[in-house]
Amino acid sequence: IQRNPGETEFHQAVREVLESLAPVVDKHPEYADAEVIRRLCEPERQIIFRVPWIDDSGHVQLNRGFRVQFNSALGPYKGGLRFHPSVYLGIIKFLGFEQIFKNSLTGLPIGGGKGGSDFDPKGKSDREVMRFCQSFMTELYRHIGEHTDVPAGDIGVGGREIGYLFGQYKRLTNRYESGVLTGKGLGWGGSQVRTEATGYGTVYFVDEMLKHKGQSLDGKRVVVSGSGNVAIHAIDKVHQLGGRVVACSDSDGYVVDESGIDLELLKEIKNGHRGRVSEYAQARGADATYVSDGSIWDVPTQIALPCATQNELGAEGARSLVKNGCIVVAEGANMPTTPEAISLLTEAGVLFAPGKAANAGGVATSALEMQQNASRDSWTFDYTEERLSTIMRALHRECLTTAEEYGQPGDYVAGANIAGFIKVADAMLALGIV
Ligand code: NDP
Repeated sequence: IQRNPGETEFHQAVREVLESLAPVVDKHPEYADAEVIRRLCEPERQIIFRVPWIDDSGHVQLNRGFRVQFNSALGPYKGGLRFHPSVYLGIIKFLGFEQIFKNSLTGLPIGGGKGGSDFDPKGKSDREVMRFCQSFMTELYRHIGEHTDVPAGDIGVGGREIGYLFGQYKRLTNRYESGVLTGKGLGWGGSQVRTEATGYGTVYFVDEMLKHKGQSLDGKRVVVSGSGNVAIHAIDKVHQLGGRVVACSDSDGYVVDESGIDLELLKEIKNGHRGRVSEYAQARGADATYVSDGSIWDVPTQIALPCATQNELGAEGARSLVKNGCIVVAEGANMPTTPEAISLLTEAGVLFAPGKAANAGGVATSALEMQQNASRDSWTFDYTEERLSTIMRALHRECLTTAEEYGQPGDYVAGANIAGFIKVADAMLALGIV
């Protein structure tokens, strides 16, 4: 804490992982001897840079850019870029730290990193977003590459932004290096299923959790927070597997639609003009209720999927979920559940899946995009989804078997942290003190 003052979210993420690792260090003193944990908590490289750009009225605007290259023991740094006004070093470091373990859990050869900016794309014109992205990449391009560091999207960074970023990278380097970014459009090096992957993967994970308890998603009532990329595709997969999502949200409020969220309508509003869930409620008329000053976790549900942002599900929300009979909480977002809420949920017997396991499908499919780029190939939707589904099911099994092996059966948090850690720690030992 003294070494990284003020980085609250980073401290929270590190504490959560370290709390799981005591039994591992007892069993493997070699990790302590080589100071693996201390080295893991220190990013290999952190880049902070100025991003000046010109708005539509001709004024110079200024933002701050970040790329934290956390750990490359398993492969090139890999992790998204977040554009949101709340971004500062503590957020990027928490996301980068989580990414190390998540990427390790996928079993694919990718290290951990994260980046972004305090730029707010909301309300900006396409041209402004383009000029910002070009300026951001004008510094970032020196630090990335298909064998070095491969960024992708996150909050505020979708297909449009990846397009502008890739265009500027190509222009600056004079190289069509498809593997330098993932989340690209299908016509220019992108992978089928990448857009859907995080939401779909989260629901595959939930499906496995339920199956393990002899249940299924069929007929289950589900609440999904957020209405961005992860939320929309989580809703889609829940509906495909027979569940019913009755509520979703954005940062202004939430909507309850008892007959099940009409995904086509939601997509039209969100993807068409980046609209709000209040517009969804308006379009649905008497069938839906919009709440602007409440908590989505008060909506009774059997399954809760927080898919918006960090620390969005706190103690109050957890109490409501427990009271209303929730049986599963799985994190589509990164660290959306506070430590207190996790304790309340797990003590009440709610099955809890941490983001580094449940939302790993996004980065796993990014790694599949890298494989396709490296072999100049492109796979079908069905084949790619099958690969995603296999990865998520294997990841679920690994969390369970590792938790059991270390004396904490059924504890997905311990299972994910320990399994993710061991692979990285072993690689760090093998590579020497570097
Ligand atoms: P998007 O930008 O597409 O969507 C974010 C959604 O969350 C929007 O509905 C947004 O509402 C809402 N939101 C953002 N901040 C807040 C807030 N403070 N309070 C309430 N709602 C908020 O991002 P993604 O769907 O890509 O990402 C969502 C989460 O999933 C993040 O935690 C991200 O790190 C994580 N994730 C994403 C992956 C991906 O592949 N995209 C991969 C793995 C994890 P509004 O429009 O009002 O801001």
